[in-house]
Amino acid sequence: MPTSAEQQSFKRSNRRDQWATGDDSLLAEHLPHQRALCPLHPFHAAERPIAAPVDGNEATCPNCYCLICDARVSECRHWRGGDAPAHCNAHSNSVLWRQKRVNAKRQRTRAVRAAQRKRGGVTFSVR
Ligand SMILES: [Zn+2]
Ligand SMILES: [Zn+2]
Repeated sequence: MPTSAEQQSFKRSNRRDQWATGDDSLLAEHLPHQRALCPLHPFHAAERPIAAPVDGNEATCPNCYCLICDARVSECRHWRGGDAPAHCNAHSNSVLWRQKRVNAKRQRTRAVRAAQRKRGGVTFSVR
């Protein structure tokens, strides 16, 4: 039968454990992350971009991001492939995927600049 001192120390260490794990807002699954780094769904890395999802790579949690689109998976149009390699397979250890990411970023920048130019043109014609 435990003495009261032992019970005390048990209670105290129990509480310390709760403190250590109590704040789950800091867990990785609550922060945006690349699909390849998702703590909830295992990722299967393929060296080359493949047209269809590899072995469950299409599974996502609400905070999974598309590495290529730099956007939430819900905003990615090529997550499961289609007319482009499936973005759900993307991971930063592959040179080919890294190139795709750079290209996609360049395209986004170009689209934003084009939109800005358009807006500028409209403003000028109004003046
Ligand atoms: Zn995730
Ligand atoms: Zn994407």
